[in-house]
Amino acid sequence: MTDHYDVIVLGAGPAGYVAAIRCAQLGMKTACVEKWLNKNNKPALGGTCLNVGCIPSKALLEATELYHEAVHGFDDLGITCTDIKLDVPKMISRKDKIVSELTGGIEGLFKANGIDWLVGAGTVLADKNVSVTDHDGGKKQYTAKNIIIATGSVPIELPITPLQGDAVVDSSGALEWQSVPGKVCVIGAGIIGLELGSVWRRLGSEVVLLEAMDSFLPMVDGQIAKDAQRTFTKQGLDIQLSARVTGSEVKGNKVIVSYQNSDGEQQMEVDKLIVAVGRRAYVHGVLTDEAGVELDERGLIHVNDSCETNVPGIYAIGDVVRGPMLAHKGSEEGVMVAELIAGEHSSVNYDVMPNVIYTHPEVAWVGKTEEELKADGVDYQAGTFPFAASGRAKAKGDTGGLVKILRDKNTDRMLGAHVIGPSASELLGQSVLAMEFDATIEDIAHTIHAHPTLSEAMHEAALSADGRAIHIANRKRR
Ligand code: FAD
Ligand code: AMP
Repeated sequence: MTDHYDVIVLGAGPAGYVAAIRCAQLGMKTACVEKWLNKNNKPALGGTCLNVGCIPSKALLEATELYHEAVHGFDDLGITCTDIKLDVPKMISRKDKIVSELTGGIEGLFKANGIDWLVGAGTVLADKNVSVTDHDGGKKQYTAKNIIIATGSVPIELPITPLQGDAVVDSSGALEWQSVPGKVCVIGAGIIGLELGSVWRRLGSEVVLLEAMDSFLPMVDGQIAKDAQRTFTKQGLDIQLSARVTGSEVKGNKVIVSYQNSDGEQQMEVDKLIVAVGRRAYVHGVLTDEAGVELDERGLIHVNDSCETNVPGIYAIGDVVRGPMLAHKGSEEGVMVAELIAGEHSSVNYDVMPNVIYTHPEVAWVGKTEEELKADGVDYQAGTFPFAASGRAKAKGDTGGLVKILRDKNTDRMLGAHVIGPSASELLGQSVLAMEFDATIEDIAHTIHAHPTLSEAMHEAALSADGRAIHIANRKRR
């Protein structure tokens, strides 16, 4: 292992490992420092996303959705299931197996690309030196022409509700319970809170989400957020807005949660408490003063549009910098930075960033919401198509939700796409591509969509933005 590299990447989450692979592809001698220890105390690549984030949460969301369908939904299809048994430990081990296969896969990709994994915690010193402290406390120093910091984020902890065993947990802890709790309280009705709340609700827990804000999913298009709130409430998620948690206390095998709402001070007794109040950039021990890298006022590493810090040759990407905390955002920044270091042109189109909430129905969106367009004074038209009018959704027995497309009245360009419904995450892909290619509604109208597919709902919503949908009555004809 050499001591000098073209690039040293700190962190092997979806931002860092992708950056490292792209650097190696472009012929650079690359090392990646990663300190993660998995629950068996073994070093692992993949970061939050693969170990305790995107992948394990989706593994449990898939399994619990199927369980819920088998118990509550199959009867409608003419399938009688009796004696359905739930094996939570098996569900959790399946999730663990997926995680270890995928994190092992990254290790394989590192080997295949000739990337050195420096196991331990990296610290950026002066003059692009990096010190790596291994898990036994041993230190070694390396130098690099370029450094990419991708140290990610960690859950925000509330001092008023300290984590305690498996009773008061963060998102990682809520992926590990071996049995179904009777009653669960989730602090925060954001994306992570809703996904984890859904997992345990589907398995039979009573789930209450306490959200300090007075609006539900404020970043989501208003019509879609309203539909989501109504649907999740019908599923039994008790979503309480304007409810600020003020403390928690573990008493025996119960947790007493204190909170304030419009009626004053309240208390609730639950079996488990999930703290899902957001994530913060992780820079602990990453930078020394001598490195000279500046943070912004929110504690994120300050970067320009090319993800370069104030120190030339030191870049930062992913959750540790501004922008949405999303795996694909970090990965795209990783590719961009690698290509820029290699002297190529590269950029990230932050305006076309897909977002997904993997509940059932899924919620997915890209571009502007109707509220944002109104606030910006844009002359737009909205087109919607309900899944209730989709033949494929009917055949699936999954007709809730709608697609909404927003169109610029003057240029005919797509300004935003919003979906709540079956496979919304996959459906959104075509709108993301359309927006990336600067497509017009006319382009979409000419694109043939296979019948019967859910994607026809996207086609029809786009047509409806122009008053020419076929399978619903249009409000306005051309
Ligand atoms: P991370 O994945 O956090 O990786 C950073 C890595 O850096 C870690 O492995 C850490 O050990 C390492 N590190 C830190 N400091 C050092 C150091 N000094 N030396 C060496 N290594 C260091 N996003 C989505 O897009 N889709 C989803 O469905 C989704 N679901 C999620 C579900 C949950 C429950 C959670 C918690 C998050 C989810 N996210 C999702 C968010 C996603 O996980 C993050 O946006 C993503 O992991 C950020 O990638 P990153 O590479 O910037 O950081
Ligand atoms: P997100 O950042 O999307 O993961 O969502 C976290 C949510 O937690 C936000 O909507 C916050 O308003 C909410 N939140 C933060 N602190 C509290 C608190 N003490 N009580 C209730 N909700 C909170």
